[in-house]
Amino acid sequence: SSFAHFGFDEPLMKAIRRAEYSQPTPIQAQAIPTALSGRDIIGIAKTGSGKTAAFVWPLLVHLMDQRELRPGDGPIALILAPTRELSLQIYNEAKKFGKVYNINVVCCYGGGSKWEQSKALEQGAEIVVATPGRMIDMVKMKATNLRRVTFLVLDEADRMFHMGFEPQVRSICNHVRPDRQTLLFSATFKKRIERLARDVLTDPVRIVQ
Ligand code: AMP
Repeated sequence: SSFAHFGFDEPLMKAIRRAEYSQPTPIQAQAIPTALSGRDIIGIAKTGSGKTAAFVWPLLVHLMDQRELRPGDGPIALILAPTRELSLQIYNEAKKFGKVYNINVVCCYGGGSKWEQSKALEQGAEIVVATPGRMIDMVKMKATNLRRVTFLVLDEADRMFHMGFEPQVRSICNHVRPDRQTLLFSATFKKRIERLARDVLTDPVRIVQ
């Protein structure tokens, strides 16, 4: 398989070449065509599999299809992740590929400055990467809102649950419009994640790394 099969436009292909990725990883080869078709996904994949790009690239295609940024608007794509470290890694990947389109990305995590994060959100960002508790704080502070979110990623869902974020994850899912596209990634797929998948995904395609 090669990147050419995905049908990405030239700016994104150029950024992928610049990253010196020689070929798609297995999770990318499977998840990207499915995500581009608009389907929901359950991806069973670990860190190191290339799962970040597997959702970041389709998310960018989704954004380019419907971008119209007004100052103060909330994100179009929201990515929830369990920790500061992971959210920063995702943020960097989203920035690396999003910059070819001048996409604004903001990262909000627990322990960081609420003031700085809320100021960044108020500038308007198409992509927000956040830990679940901090995202809810930001919405409560009215620094942002979920009204425009049409692409939702739950990354490392099992770790988010281990850290006690199940209520926050569910609350955020319940406040995002139901006709969104949702991608759920988890290293394991046990009962609680299965229940979450049943509750927040629509007719998902299951992909195993
Ligand atoms: P991830 O599993 O998303 O955390 O990615 C693990 C590492 O692999 C990151 O440093 C990525 O930048 C890198 N990566 C992602 N996709 C590819 C690819 N197709 N070829 C080589 N490296 C990649």
